[in-house]
Amino acid sequence: MRFHTLLAAALLSAPAAVCAQAGGAPTTVPGQMALEILEEAIAVPTVQGRGQVPALAEKLTQRLVAAGFAAEDVQFVTMGETGYLTARYPGRDRAAKPIVVLAHMDVVEADPADWARDPFIPVVEDGFVFGRGAVDNKGDLAMVTAAIIALKGEGWVPARDVVLFFTGDEETQMATTQAGARALSNAWLVLNADAGGGELAEDGTPFVYTVQAGEKTYADYRLTATDPGGHSSRPDDTNPIAAMSAALVKVAQYRFPPKLSPLTKAYLEGAAAQQADPAIAAAMRAFAADPSDIAAADLLSAHPEHIGVVRTTCVPTMVDGGHAPNALPQSVRANINCRIFPGTPRSEVQATLTELVADPSITFEFIDNGTIESLESPLDPQIMAALETAVHERAPDLAIIPGMSAGATDSMHFRALDVPALGVSAVFIKAQDEFAHGLDERLPVATLDPGVQQWMTILETIAR
Ligand SMILES: [Zn+2]
Repeated sequence: MRFHTLLAAALLSAPAAVCAQAGGAPTTVPGQMALEILEEAIAVPTVQGRGQVPALAEKLTQRLVAAGFAAEDVQFVTMGETGYLTARYPGRDRAAKPIVVLAHMDVVEADPADWARDPFIPVVEDGFVFGRGAVDNKGDLAMVTAAIIALKGEGWVPARDVVLFFTGDEETQMATTQAGARALSNAWLVLNADAGGGELAEDGTPFVYTVQAGEKTYADYRLTATDPGGHSSRPDDTNPIAAMSAALVKVAQYRFPPKLSPLTKAYLEGAAAQQADPAIAAAMRAFAADPSDIAAADLLSAHPEHIGVVRTTCVPTMVDGGHAPNALPQSVRANINCRIFPGTPRSEVQATLTELVADPSITFEFIDNGTIESLESPLDPQIMAALETAVHERAPDLAIIPGMSAGATDSMHFRALDVPALGVSAVFIKAQDEFAHGLDERLPVATLDPGVQQWMTILETIAR
């Protein structure tokens, strides 16, 4: 998963400027290596069920060992058909808590019949590398690996250990993430390559960099109403479709109270400066300054791209009921999908919904899909300064805005263990070129040189 921030769509008011990025091949040695690793990685179809993650891990292991990693410092832990890879780069203080650099090796399925090119044969064309995973997440996986190999080649010794942690089922169960996060729960900081990143305006100019520092908690609740039913010519007053309809209308119309956190405050302040619409910019500033400003919260909530930043949202997404046109319904089921503000427990949201519906004939059930609750990560000024140094090397003065994802990334498993995690992808891409999970996924070749350098600089600065 990449971006999915609650702000990506909100910031598409790009300034006009010239200076499109060149589309040629990488010109630096680490950039060339990143391209080579990316092409190698795309060619291994690490889709769930195909058992190919260990093969990709083996290729990465060979590169790391060839670059000077001790064989015992590079480990693949098998978990069923997949697994996770860790590579420990020893620092000066071996007892200090390590920095974890997190990326994922697996990709979502791609049907070659639907693609213009084979999704598992890397093709460089028109300034892009095409292939499943080019953006999500093999582009950053390749840049991180090339950066760490380049640093090793320079003889760099970090202040503390740096551990590469490449998961093998981010797109599905996240069992490898969970297991690896437990093994690395003493980490000082996690830099997640699979969130955040740079956005390019239509002309190729960078116009904003997002650092992902939190994500909303995902939750599905199943509502069920049952009844003995009967013949539709003899209706009584206990119709479960009617009861469920009334309940769903209440849910759809309900607004959770607005909330502000240090992260969303920083986001709103930064995003206000990027807004083309002065009314929205003013509401962002007003709400960031005073979260009890209901008018500002409501103005932002009237826009689907902003509502998620100011409150928990719950919406009916599925309904299924009745069994015949001429029968009283015996059962109705509905799904309510919620994106919960970080720090609010799912049980609290369920209690709110139950109270709101206030109908004992309707039962509520939480559907466990493996996602978990997590708090947002603090924006440590020293780490933010290091990120700024790294990003401004490639894009001077670029706005860096902390953001919150609407969905779940590997980071939540560290945040849940109280380890701060920041999404700091080095991919810079235009919104219209962003096809993660979609057809003809592509990565701009021009992002590789500066992207590898961004990873090198951020590590060198943080672990100086
Ligand atoms: Zn991803």
